[in-house]
Amino acid sequence: MSNRAALRDLPRIDDLVAASPELVDDYGRDAATAALRRAVEAARTALVAGQPASAETTALQETARAELAARRPDPPAPVINATGVIVHTNLGRAPLSGEARRALDAAADACDLEADRDSGARSSRLSRLEPLVADACDAEAGFAVNSAAGALVLVLGALAGGREVLVSRGELVEIGGSFRLPEMMQAAGARLVEVGTTNRTRARDFAEAGDDVALILSVHPSNYRIEGFAEAPAIGDLAAVARERDVPLVHDVGSGLLSDEDAPWLADEPSLSGSLAAGADLVFASADKLLGGPQAGLLAGRAELVDRCRRHPLARAVRLDKLRIAALVATLRAHLDGRRASLPVWAMLEAHPDDLAERAGRLAEQLGGRVVTGASVVGGGAAPGRELPSPAIRLPDTDPDALAHALRTGDPAVWPRVEHDAVHLDPRTVPAELDERLVDAIRAARTERAPR
Ligand SMILES: *Cc1c(COP(=O)(O)O)cnc(C)c1O
Repeated sequence: MSNRAALRDLPRIDDLVAASPELVDDYGRDAATAALRRAVEAARTALVAGQPASAETTALQETARAELAARRPDPPAPVINATGVIVHTNLGRAPLSGEARRALDAAADACDLEADRDSGARSSRLSRLEPLVADACDAEAGFAVNSAAGALVLVLGALAGGREVLVSRGELVEIGGSFRLPEMMQAAGARLVEVGTTNRTRARDFAEAGDDVALILSVHPSNYRIEGFAEAPAIGDLAAVARERDVPLVHDVGSGLLSDEDAPWLADEPSLSGSLAAGADLVFASADKLLGGPQAGLLAGRAELVDRCRRHPLARAVRLDKLRIAALVATLRAHLDGRRASLPVWAMLEAHPDDLAERAGRLAEQLGGRVVTGASVVGGGAAPGRELPSPAIRLPDTDPDALAHALRTGDPAVWPRVEHDAVHLDPRTVPAELDERLVDAIRAARTERAPR
């Protein structure tokens, strides 16, 4: 068909909308009409310019549907995490416990978030969380905000107020997802004073630095390790210098490990209570890493400092919403009430090697794969370089990347690990009750990959 004929054949918008009831059903009349109009205009522009374009109703509907689909993304969909990365940032960090899910579902309704049932008067939304955070961190006082980055901004706003903050040059980190410590500090209005060198900084270096010092900040280098000729001051030694200078020592603990005893095999990973016991005045950490909860930032330490943070105007800007308060209460209760194994992150960390071996054997048999020795990692910028020995199922395929793609785009989506030129599945990060669905998903992906 000539372009001139095609131009004549372009349908009227009204007719096109009337011929597209499914599009109207899926996206509403206004959006569907606008998208169909754009499809017709694009075809007209192309045809006038002498380029090929279709005037057919089905082609225009397809163009409109593709555009609408791209502009109306679905909410995040569940995936099966078979990567062996326990706290996988791209997959939403810590999966929540059943109790936390039920709590946030209940809070989705009208709920007694800021209401005292006895008096009917207004209460504080954080009154539930404060004692839980304090107890979990073994601290005088606790508080919670929407992320560890939010906690840092709040601490700097409340305690530094434009004055100097001392940080070791070895800790001026980028955590990923554009958390760059020096930039965050600048944005929060604090004046950064770098202390020591990249590889070696001693507590003594902090004794003389700066001349209008508000606080000393120590940041756990969560996602990297400096090896070789390296030295970083212990929290206890920094605390002694902080006391001498009469300024608070604040420690960004990072992963949200509550106690040093929780995971002795994570030897270098600092904990919130451990750091306070060693002399830090204020500690903060993420709630969606090793704590195993929703995105949030825990803040704990000396009551007077926590109180200054709580009363600072920025606290309102970094406050938690009701859904995360609900999930965080449930998560902290699980830790405090001795039910840590109910948290998926801890079930994965502490999975029994025999159980993993048995599941790996069964999955390999069902899938025609081979069990190989592998390793899971904590991930999420915690415990860099620490590996947990874990069996993995190696799936034979001539094109592992194509199989991985079919798995990621399947339903349910499966995230495998591709290494040594093969697709691997790590059972540690897959909840055991999903094993059957995993097998089905892999069979479906293989069928899709099979030459037709
Ligand atoms: C992960 C991490 C952060 C950022 O935590 P968010 O809760 O994602 O804001 C900050 N500092 C350290 C040391 C971390 O490990």
